[in-house]
Amino acid sequence: MGGYVPGEQPQTAGFVKLNTNENPYPPSPAVAKAVEEVLRRGLQKYPDPMAGAFRRQAAEVLGLHPDWILCGNGSDDILTIVTRAFVGQGQMLRLPYPSYILYKSLAQIQGARSEEIHFERDWSLGAAFGRPAADLRLVFLPNPNSPSGTMVSREAILDLAERLPCPLLIDEAYGDFAEFNCLDLPAGNEKILVSRSFSKSYALAGLRFGFVVAQPRMIEQLVKVKDSYNCDALSIAAATAAVADQAWLKENRARILATRKRLTEGMRALGFEVVQSQANFTWNVHPSQPAKPLYERLKQQRVLVRYMDYPGWGDGLRISVGTDQEVQTCLDHLRGIL
Ligand SMILES: *Cc1c(COP(=O)(O)O)cnc(C)c1O
Repeated sequence: MGGYVPGEQPQTAGFVKLNTNENPYPPSPAVAKAVEEVLRRGLQKYPDPMAGAFRRQAAEVLGLHPDWILCGNGSDDILTIVTRAFVGQGQMLRLPYPSYILYKSLAQIQGARSEEIHFERDWSLGAAFGRPAADLRLVFLPNPNSPSGTMVSREAILDLAERLPCPLLIDEAYGDFAEFNCLDLPAGNEKILVSRSFSKSYALAGLRFGFVVAQPRMIEQLVKVKDSYNCDALSIAAATAAVADQAWLKENRARILATRKRLTEGMRALGFEVVQSQANFTWNVHPSQPAKPLYERLKQQRVLVRYMDYPGWGDGLRISVGTDQEVQTCLDHLRGIL
């Protein structure tokens, strides 16, 4: 198998780094305090295998019961656990295309098959995405999607869940930047699971924490196939402090959304086609300039964006929403190149 290749993480300073959708701002100050407190108590003991402190805090914030939450070492761990639980060897996992490339690798690791259903050109989902199929065991839907930042409506998701013969995981890694989310849908439909990440909206990509919301009977099955101590004491404490500080999240979100507007308008002014994003990045396609040389020239000038090539669909530049200054630097360099 090919294996998943993550975005570049340059180990030298000096890059304007807009390629892996990290948050440009520091996390809530409560995070460092919580980590220091754990260090003071020591790391000799194993952590709580179910991360109870986080489950209780998140349940309170989200208006759920803790039994509806399972924590993971990043939401990628959640995606692995869900794939492992539902998709056996030779069985089928469905994903939209273009979307998050990792889903396909997860199927391969299981010895399972995957089926990519193309988005329509306007990034809506066609009827084929909800069609039952033999051996279909799990469907992934990132919402907002990457690389487009577009969304599928709640109505369409409920309709999908009705038609599909298997669980449907809504990957809300970017859900906090969107106008709506699906966190309440698992309550009305056992087949719907919703995953969340702390890497983007909570500015904790270096920490590794995520969770999934599903009905307790579903969570119980997922627990069976996770690593016993999949979240460490430092990340549990940090994520608990982060989720408790909703004022920080609200303020950070407002800043990112304001800069996303500047980025979108700036790229359109340079002649790019930019679909309206509900995430912390935009998808940029130029009608006449090939994307790859633009990416390469930007990289030479120490501005790192993500060049994405999707055979059968097309290529483009995915640009993360950094600070106003970072976004301005990127726009200025692009204007020079064009
Ligand atoms: C970033 C991302 C994730 C992974 O998040 P982690 O919590 O860092 O593992 C999952 N899904 C999508 C669509 C993402 O873009």
